[in-house]
Amino acid sequence: MSEQEDRLQITLDAAVERYDDRVSVPFAASPALRVIPSDTFYAYVFPLGGGLGIDASTGTANQIAQAWKRALDLSTNLPPERQIELLGHPDHAADMSLRWLMQHELNHFAIGHFRITGSAGLLEAGDPTGFGIATQGAAPPELPVESFLAEDEEHWLSYCLELQADQDATEIFLGAYSAENWKLFRYYATSVLMVILIIEREERGKETSRTHPFAETRLFMLLAYLTELPFIPAYKRAEREGLDYVPEEYLPSDSEISDYRAAVVEPVFASSQILAEAVGLTDFW
Ligand SMILES: [Zn+2]
Repeated sequence: MSEQEDRLQITLDAAVERYDDRVSVPFAASPALRVIPSDTFYAYVFPLGGGLGIDASTGTANQIAQAWKRALDLSTNLPPERQIELLGHPDHAADMSLRWLMQHELNHFAIGHFRITGSAGLLEAGDPTGFGIATQGAAPPELPVESFLAEDEEHWLSYCLELQADQDATEIFLGAYSAENWKLFRYYATSVLMVILIIEREERGKETSRTHPFAETRLFMLLAYLTELPFIPAYKRAEREGLDYVPEEYLPSDSEISDYRAAVVEPVFASSQILAEAVGLTDFW
């Protein structure tokens, strides 16, 4: 097994384990990973038997690792307060990005997206043509959608599925709020952003057949979730206690919130510029 095959399998296994830790019902299938030896970025998830299959190219792992190296090179030339702060070796950041991508794939299945697509798979990026593999259904510019959508709304469906998979994957990946975990949230969210920006780069040039929302939308969803995160324990506590309001004293203090935003939300937003440049999206902002 090549190093990249190993990394893809290890990060997929870690994503399943994380799902089981964070969600009360264990993940309902054993995903079958097929690694495609190709330098291009390619990731595809599809129904397989009662479970799911994931195709990922070795290039997916390689390109994420290379993008992280470039991002860190760019970052070291910036003033200290604008640099990207990792927790550990750059290879670990690449593994975290890959693990979030796997988490996203698992959630397409867990949420039930293949029931909505009529069992068509969902392509994150890349083109299977030329790999000599049989894919189960094509990427869905034309989804066999259920009748609850009006015809002029159908093209939004794949965007919605992607945003839903993003949100669930990010919730699982980041874990519950704790004031001790600010650095971890920042690090993890930056790892998520790297994948979003690489997919954006892959989507460029096919604006009439995009299947993913623009990276700006996905980034703002991520920032919105990060902004909400410190309040979630208070909401849950109030709900557990059957209250229809959230008592003031359950909420974090104003100073905790402003420190949190400065330590987490703002650096993640600021890193989007560096990461975009690192993946080759020079006109992102
Ligand atoms: Zn997706």
